[in-house]
Amino acid sequence: MKQPEIDWSNLSFSYLKTDFNVRCTYKDGKWGEIEVSDSEYIPLHIAASCLHYGQEAFEGLKAFRGKDGKVRVFRMEENARRFIRSAEGLKMQPMPEEIFCEMVRKVVKLNERFIPPYGTGASLYIRPLEIGISPRVGVSPASEYLVIMLVTPVGPYFKEGFKPTKVCISREYDRVAPKGTGSIKAGGNYGASLVAGEKAHELGYSVMLYLDPKEKKYIDECGAANFFGIKGNSYVTPASESILPSITNKSLRQLAKDMGMTVEERHVPLEELASFEEIAACGTAAVCSPVSEIDDLDTGDKYIISATGEAGPVTTALYNKIRAIQYGEEPDTHGWCEVIE
Ligand SMILES: *Cc1c(COP(=O)(O)O)cnc(C)c1O
Repeated sequence: MKQPEIDWSNLSFSYLKTDFNVRCTYKDGKWGEIEVSDSEYIPLHIAASCLHYGQEAFEGLKAFRGKDGKVRVFRMEENARRFIRSAEGLKMQPMPEEIFCEMVRKVVKLNERFIPPYGTGASLYIRPLEIGISPRVGVSPASEYLVIMLVTPVGPYFKEGFKPTKVCISREYDRVAPKGTGSIKAGGNYGASLVAGEKAHELGYSVMLYLDPKEKKYIDECGAANFFGIKGNSYVTPASESILPSITNKSLRQLAKDMGMTVEERHVPLEELASFEEIAACGTAAVCSPVSEIDDLDTGDKYIISATGEAGPVTTALYNKIRAIQYGEEPDTHGWCEVIE
C-alpha cells in the first residue's frame, strides 16, 4: 500500500483529504446498503431539512495504530448509542447500532493508509454525521436521512506534553437551554456557541466555561467538553441535563474507580472551584485538557488551579492510562477497544 506523504508528528486537528467516505441512506422506510464514495461532496436538495431546520447530528471517535501494529477503535458502541439518542432528539431516523459499527469498520479499513503510525501520538479521527435530506419548507421532520462517515488523520492535541490553559466564565452566554438539546450531539449546539467561543479567544482564554443555563449556579460544560475536578481522592464531574454525556468522561470515571478513587457525579457549585486541586476538560479530541486558571468575567473572581502551570498528577495518570489502552500498550480490561482486522 502506498503511504501518503504526511508529516505524522506535526498533524493538527484539521481536515485532510483521505481516500474514501461511506454513506447510508434511509428511504422508503428502511436503511439501504452501505455505499463507498471517493467524492468529498454530496448532492443535496436545496430545501433539505438539514439546511433549513437544523436536522443534523454528529459523532466523533478515533482509531489508533497500536504498539503491536493492530488498529483499535475505542468504544464505538457507545458512540452508536449516543448517535441514536441524538437522532431521536431531533426527530430523525435513528441508525441501528449494527449498521453504525459496520460503517465505522468499513471506513477505517478503506482508509488504512491514513492511520498514523504508532509512536507519533496521532490517530485517525472518525466523524459520522446524520442529516435530514427531504425537502421541507413547512417545519416538520424529513422522511429521508443520510448518514455519512468521513475520516481524517489528526495529531495529538498536546505535542510537547500537557499545556494547561486559562478559561473564563460569563453569564452573558449559554451553550444550550435547560431542557434543550445540550444532552445530544447536535451541530446546532456548536453554531450557537461560536460567538461565546470567539469572545473567550479574543480575551485570551481557550474556551468559555458554561454555568448551568437555568440557575447559573453550577458548572455545566467546559467549551465543547465535559468538566472534571480532582479533590483529595475524589473525581468530581457535573450531573446536569444540559451537558453531553462524554464517553471520555465515562471512561475516566471508570479508570478513577480502578485507581481506588471515589467518583462523584453531582451538581458542582461555582464557589467549589476554589477547592479543587486539579481541573480539566475531557473529550475525544484532547482526552484531557488541564485548566490552570478560571476567571469570572462578571465578578472579577479568579480561581488559580495550577500556580506552576503544570498538569496535576491525577489528570496526568488518567490521561496516560487511557492512551495506553487505546494504543494497546496496556491490557484492555474493560473491553473498550475493537481490533479492526
Ligand atoms: C462530543 C462532546 C463532548 C465529548 O464527548 P466524547 O464522547 O468524550 O468525545 C463533550 N461535550 C460536548 C458538548 C460534545 O459535543
